Amino acid sequence: MRNILMVKCPYCNYEGEFKFGKTWKFRLYDVKRMECPKCGGVFNYYKGVSSKGKTSEFVIRIKPKVKG
Ligand SMILES: [Zn+2]
Repeated sequence: MRNILMVKCPYCNYEGEFKFGKTWKFRLYDVKRMECPKCGGVFNYYKGVSSKGKTSEFVIRIKPKVKG
């Protein structure tokens, strides 16, 4: 399995392939820890399917680029 996902960075709006690190479950969501290859910002990507079959996805910012 390749740890690659197409998403958009919430910091710099870079859109493309992101590598992701650890994954876990939050309620009905699968959560992935993402790191932007362009700006280095870290965020969580949530994707889940409700009981009605509707897919929802969103990101939550964790921390922007660490300098150095
Ligand atoms: Zn970025």
